[in-house]
Amino acid sequence: MTARRTPFVNLEPGEDAAAVRVAIDRVLARGWFILGPEVAAFEMQFAAACGAPHAIGVGNGTDALALVLRAIGIGPGDEVITSPLSAAFTALAIAMVGARPVFADIDPDRLTLDPAAAAAAITPRTAGIMPVHLYGQAADMSAFVQIAQRHGLALIEDCCQAHLATCAGRPVGTFGVAGAFSFYPTKNLGALGDGGAIVTLDAALADRLRRLRNGGMATRDEHLEAGVNSRLDELQAAVLCARLPLLRGWTTRRRAIAAIYRAGLADAPVLVPPECDAGHVYHLFPIRSTERVALRAHLAAQGIDTLIHYATPIPRQPAFAATDPADCPIAARVCGEVLSLPLYPALGNDDTASVVAAVSSFPARRDAGVAR
Ligand SMILES: *Cc1c(COP(=O)(O)O)cnc(C)c1O
Repeated sequence: MTARRTPFVNLEPGEDAAAVRVAIDRVLARGWFILGPEVAAFEMQFAAACGAPHAIGVGNGTDALALVLRAIGIGPGDEVITSPLSAAFTALAIAMVGARPVFADIDPDRLTLDPAAAAAAITPRTAGIMPVHLYGQAADMSAFVQIAQRHGLALIEDCCQAHLATCAGRPVGTFGVAGAFSFYPTKNLGALGDGGAIVTLDAALADRLRRLRNGGMATRDEHLEAGVNSRLDELQAAVLCARLPLLRGWTTRRRAIAAIYRAGLADAPVLVPPECDAGHVYHLFPIRSTERVALRAHLAAQGIDTLIHYATPIPRQPAFAATDPADCPIAARVCGEVLSLPLYPALGNDDTASVVAAVSSFPARRDAGVAR
């Protein structure tokens, strides 16, 4: 037992505090709050960080996904295949454009959408596939690129948990038509509120997205199409510009913590999902146990906060129950077993040591962690 408390996340500015303050003051002094120089600068810098020629700042990650779908003409009557194990916002973005989310099961090791299951779910109505780079690890994109090409489908990447992640060395967001990012405060790159961005290699798509996010305006006086209001604002863009240069270092620290957990928990009575790609950026670090309730209570008693990502497969959420009767047994099982440990750059080595000690001292039944 120990008296120290390890919170699940810590959003207080740290090494970025001075730069964030300067950025906020700069925007206040300029008095320009929507679609100004900060958004333009952030779009250029974020695109470069993602290895893409274009980035478009938008209101949040959900809108980023929905705007891509809309911009490529996916809507009512269309189906988009996606993962049952994700934030429900992934599927909400599909529903927002009037299309139907279709859920295919996940790969039991990677925990991302299984390419074979996705291929088996293709129907004449399928218009796209939306893999989610979950917990910071890319989906198996070489397989999805092949499937999309073979069937003439659009690939839309949910990169909301995967800033700077790569798949076999190539940046996420550059495999399909576009990648959607969120800057929700807890993400690897977070704003002081909502924010999002789309990256794409396609200049014409980038222009269309810039118009759609701003009411469909082509010029000050002309609404070319009925767009939406989903703009990244100047204050958030300035904060993101201040933080982006620190993101590589933060990612390195996340990977170091993950390595400490992997080494420390190798013999613990839990299952640690394997690292399937070295480009993993460890947005989250879920472990698995068939005795999750007891494990969570055991950790809480030692001051360690945990969260569940995610407790329910999206097709089992009331909001989607009528949409798809899909049975995704692997996702259902994983939802019953995952427990995310604290993992963020400010977490110190004494914190990680107490997490390892607490998980290791869990008096599990012998088979609790080995179930697959
Ligand atoms: C956070 C998140 C979203 C939604 O992003 P918002 O900015 O909150 O709209 C979508 N998909 C995944 C996988 C996420 O983690």
